[in-house]
Amino acid sequence: MGMPRILTPREIYERLDPYVIGQDRAKRAVAIAAYNHQKRLALKSRSGRSLVKKSNILLIGPTGSGKTHIARNLAGILDVPFTVVDATEYTEAGYYGKDVEVMVADLLMRANHDVHEAQRGIIFIDEVDKIARRSQGAKTGAGSRDIGGEGVQQAMLKLLEGREVFVPLNVTQHWSKHDFVPVDTSDILFVCAGTFSDLHGYMGERSVGFGRAAGPQRMKRIHHKELIEYGILAEFLGRLPVVVQLDELTADELLQVLTVPPDSIIREYTELLAADEIELEFTEGALREIVGYAVDKKVGARALRGLVEEVMSELMFEAPERSGETITVDAPWVARRLAGLDADLIVEH
Ligand code: ADP
Repeated sequence: MGMPRILTPREIYERLDPYVIGQDRAKRAVAIAAYNHQKRLALKSRSGRSLVKKSNILLIGPTGSGKTHIARNLAGILDVPFTVVDATEYTEAGYYGKDVEVMVADLLMRANHDVHEAQRGIIFIDEVDKIARRSQGAKTGAGSRDIGGEGVQQAMLKLLEGREVFVPLNVTQHWSKHDFVPVDTSDILFVCAGTFSDLHGYMGERSVGFGRAAGPQRMKRIHHKELIEYGILAEFLGRLPVVVQLDELTADELLQVLTVPPDSIIREYTELLAADEIELEFTEGALREIVGYAVDKKVGARALRGLVEEVMSELMFEAPERSGETITVDAPWVARRLAGLDADLIVEH
């Protein structure tokens, strides 16, 4: 078996595209970064080293815009292990909380304890904006968000750059010294993400409502300087050479998220009920009602699955008894099911 063939940026983009609605710039930038990453690995395996720098990525964008989704799909395309960790759960060594090495241990677990596989995986670190330097707290009005954030950034530098770290083989159990294994993070791709919501703002008027999507609706570009002022260390940013901003998904895009991707929620339910010999249909009004709810709560695509589950719960209970029927979910159906719903309970975290 030879080297796996390197996927070109276009090939990566084309494989992301059916699953990721909108976010064109992000899909392109991530495809290029992933291409460079593969190239770097290929050069290294040939000559033992490579001058191509690591292409770790920083994704900036609102909740539910697809940051995790893009990274997870990328891992699938590259066929490498993938883990999601939350930056706020980590501390500097010696403090109460997880050491940053545990991120690598998580990945190792996802790789079924295969060190070689883990070493080429992707670690997605969410909420990096919440580990900004403390002194910035007052200024950004988020005074309590940071308990030693700067120290965590410092601790993460060596992981991002590439270092051999000793990680517990199984973080879910008590471990002793000899259960640690060395893992080299040089070829692990780190994708950091944050909303940096204090820095947002849009260029000109922007509305996410239906039918008002005339022209490109771009977010204000966030510059390096602003990220540093926000409390991200220059050394930390220096290890994230690819910075990409994602846009808030519009109502029309959220509607596509529901129906278009091969693994979309509506397709999933249609298939699920087809197994009970029920033909399920959603009117466009029903879909717009669901999306309208998600837009109101400002949680982007994160609420969609929970909302559809809520809309469908009664029917799922009765389904086996309604075999042979054609059932149409319309707007009043959705409105009835979603009235008085506690939105906090349905958002994916
Ligand atoms: P973020 O990380 O930006 O907060 P996620 O990537 O976790 O948001 O999105 C939550 C869910 O919404 C994903 O699991 C995915 O199913 C869906 N989703 C989000 N953005 C998109 C998108 N652009 N295209 C298709 N589905 C999306």
